[in-house]
Amino acid sequence: MLSFDIRSLDREAATVDAVLPATDDVWMAEDILRPALEGIRVTGRLSAAGSGRYYFSGHLSGETQQECRRCLTPAQSPVVAEVHVLFAEPGGEDDDDPDVFPLEGAQGDVIDLRPAVREQWLLEVPPFLECRPDCKGLCKRCGADLNAGDCGCAPETDARWEALRKLRNDAQ
Ligand SMILES: [Zn+2]
Ligand SMILES: [Zn+2]
Repeated sequence: MLSFDIRSLDREAATVDAVLPATDDVWMAEDILRPALEGIRVTGRLSAAGSGRYYFSGHLSGETQQECRRCLTPAQSPVVAEVHVLFAEPGGEDDDDPDVFPLEGAQGDVIDLRPAVREQWLLEVPPFLECRPDCKGLCKRCGADLNAGDCGCAPETDARWEALRKLRNDAQ
């Protein structure tokens, strides 16, 4: 559970230790590009911070999977991040702060941590992965996976040198 009753938070802080499933409906269609495998573990502390404000401080951890940007096989990477979020009434002095989430009346008397976790996750997932640091990638000529061995194609030559050599040959 990542929802917390405000009235109980006004009495005492809540210890957060929960998993946001990869199938939760907080995820949007475009998030599939930065998927969380097996869900995201969220730990921390949510407490009242005076005059209708609530503060969450904690960590998230999970695993993401994307295609290796060199060879296109699936590559995985752990994602670990700190999360600090303030929930406050809209229209206040904190509205321009990206780490402030509106405390919506429509949510009732509940603080939902899921949108904040989603946002932080998307910020932290690396824009690309490599299956290993020395991945050789795919041959630009035949498309073979060069990690599996040499495909036999001739090494790439630089087109500019090629042109220069042609000029020289023509001049002879
Ligand atoms: Zn690779
Ligand atoms: Zn090749």
